Amino acid sequence: MEDIELYGYLLGLESPWTVERVKLDIIGQRVDIWATHAEGLRWACPECGAMMPLYDHAPEPTWRHLDSCQFKTFLHARPPRVNCKDHGVLQVRLPWADEKARFTALFERLAIDVLGICDVKGASAILRISWDEAWHIMERAVSRGLKRKKKRIPKTIGVDEKSVGQGHDYITLVNNVDRATVDYIGDDRKQESLDGYFARFPEKKREKIKAIAVDIWDPYLASIRNHVPPRPRRRSSSTVIT
Ligand SMILES: [Zn+2]
Repeated sequence: MEDIELYGYLLGLESPWTVERVKLDIIGQRVDIWATHAEGLRWACPECGAMMPLYDHAPEPTWRHLDSCQFKTFLHARPPRVNCKDHGVLQVRLPWADEKARFTALFERLAIDVLGICDVKGASAILRISWDEAWHIMERAVSRGLKRKKKRIPKTIGVDEKSVGQGHDYITLVNNVDRATVDYIGDDRKQESLDGYFARFPEKKREKIKAIAVDIWDPYLASIRNHVPPRPRRRSSSTVIT
């Protein structure tokens, strides 16, 4: 019982969610926690916010959460679904994770911090996740950032290759130098890896790029030549810093 209350606090679960059961597996070095909700509640449609009764539950996913000491920790719950007359049958928003995420929001936040200072291989080892899981977290973070930024193109971008190992040897990162954020991740370090970034913007927007910091790597330089219009010499010209 004490364990259950403790985990309710550790997870930051709030009404109507409570911890139902905790299972400690010493040999497997993992803790599994099952969360449940009170009966007879009304839930908000994730699209329009209208409140309605429970329709059914989605299949029970598992989310990786922050470790409990050295034990990997997993949260289980059956996400409620509503049947909205305007939006159909949809899963309600859960307080600990976005829909389709395999990690809780707190774990993702930690993972993004670690990924910011390590290569993907190093971060995977520290976080004890697979390469694919690390990649999945990075992609989700980038797409969340892009949604917020509404595809505004930075004036100064940095193009970096990052060694990742395990089948994918390199990824291409495009940074917004002014804001110090990662705006794009491309597979590999080919011309197409960077083309994918520029393809997100119409030519008019690409004209706004003033400087690009990039390593001397022919595929990247070719991509830049193809996508970033040269600026007239008299005005502050677009600069490629290598
Ligand atoms: Zn609705």
